[in-house]
Amino acid sequence: MEFVHRTLPQQVYFGAGRAAANLAAEVRQRGASRVMVIASPRERERAERVCARIDVAVWHDDVVQHVPVATAEKARSVAAEHGADLLVSIGGGSTTSLAKAVALTRGMPIVAVPTTYAGSEATDVWGLTEEATKTTGVDSRVLPAAVIYDAELTLSLPVGLSVASGLNGLAHCVDGMWAPRADPINQALGAEGIRALARGLPLIAADPSGIEGRELALYGAYLSAVAFASAGSGLHHKICHVLGGTYELPHAETHATVLPYVLAFNAPAAPEAAGRIAHALGSDSGTAEAAVAALDELRVRLHAPTALRDYGLTEADLPGAVERVLAVVPPSNPRPVTGNNLTALLRAALTGAAPATQLEEI
Ligand code: NAD
Repeated sequence: MEFVHRTLPQQVYFGAGRAAANLAAEVRQRGASRVMVIASPRERERAERVCARIDVAVWHDDVVQHVPVATAEKARSVAAEHGADLLVSIGGGSTTSLAKAVALTRGMPIVAVPTTYAGSEATDVWGLTEEATKTTGVDSRVLPAAVIYDAELTLSLPVGLSVASGLNGLAHCVDGMWAPRADPINQALGAEGIRALARGLPLIAADPSGIEGRELALYGAYLSAVAFASAGSGLHHKICHVLGGTYELPHAETHATVLPYVLAFNAPAAPEAAGRIAHALGSDSGTAEAAVAALDELRVRLHAPTALRDYGLTEADLPGAVERVLAVVPPSNPRPVTGNNLTALLRAALTGAAPATQLEEI
C-alpha cells in the first residue's frame, strides 16, 4: 500500500435541535463581531431561528444556483460595505457556494449550516458560472472553518428533493472510488457514506418527519463530501458540471439521474471499487452487475429521477455536451472514454434507458 492522503481541518458540530446553541458558541469562540448571514428568502425563517442567539450585522438573500459571477460580486460588495468578519451560510449547496465565492476573494472564515445533503460545506472546492461555463477550483480559503449539522433543519426538505440531494451525496462516494486521488482512506469513508445514505433515504421516504433517516442522511452527506474533497472529481462529476453549468440542469436531480449510468459504465473496469459499492449497498455479491442492480433497486424504491430530458436536456444538446466532457475526462478513469461510448452513456441518461445497458465486459 502506498499513498498520500490529506485531511482537511474543520470543526464539525452534529446535533438535532442544537444549531442555534452551536452557532452561538462558534461565533463567541471566534470573537466575530460583524457577522454576515447568507440565506435565500426560502430559508430566511429557518435562518432567523438558527441566528436567534447571535448579533447579525447584515442579511444577504440573493442566492442563485451555480453562482453566476454577478451574484458573487454583489455578495462580495455587501461583505465589504458592512465590514463583515465572519460569513454564516444557512441553506443548501447554492448558499454555501455563495459564501465560498465571497471567502475566495475576501479571505473570511465561513461557518456553514447545511440544510440539504449536497455536501459543499465539507469541501475546499468553489464553483462560479460565467457565459454558460461553470469553472471550479480548489482553494483552502473556501473551506468552511466550522460546519453545524442539525437534522431538524432538513425536516422541511420535500421527499423528492431529499432523495435527489441524498443521491448527490451518494454520487460523491461512488465517483470518489475511481477519482484521481482515490486512496484506501477516502474509499473507506465513501463506503460508510454509501451505507448511511442507503439506510437513511428509504427512512426519509417512508417517514419524512422522522429524525433518524434525516440524521443518517446528513452523516452520510458529510462523509461523502469528505471522501470527495480528498479523492477529487471523477467522470460523474465532470459530466454533471457540464450539464449544470452549460445547460442549466438542476444540480441534485442531474447527479441522481446520471449516477447509475456512470456506475454501470465504469464498474466492470474497476472490480475492487464495484465490490466496495455493491457491499455498501447491501449486496452479498461484489460484482459490477450486483453494484449496478443494487443502486437501481434503491433508486426505483425511492422514485428517484430517471431521465435528463425531464429537466430540459435534448438530443440536440448531446454533441456539445460530449465535446465539453471529453475535454475534462480524468486520466484516472478506469474505462477509456470515447466520443461514441460517452454519447451512448448520455443518451441513455437522457431517455432513462435501463442503466445496465452501459455494462460492458472489459
Ligand atoms: P440548492 O442549494 O440550490 O437548494 C435546492 C432548493 O432547495 C432551493 O430552492 C432551496 O431553497 C431549497 N432548500 C434548501 N434547504 C431546504 C430545506 N431544508 N427545506 C426546504 N427547502 C430547502 O441545491 P443543492 O443541491 O443543495 O446545492 C446545489 C449547489 O451546490 C450547486 O450549485 C452545486 O454546484 C453546489 N455544490 C458544491 C459542492 C462543492 O464541493 N463545491 C458540492 C455539492 C454541491
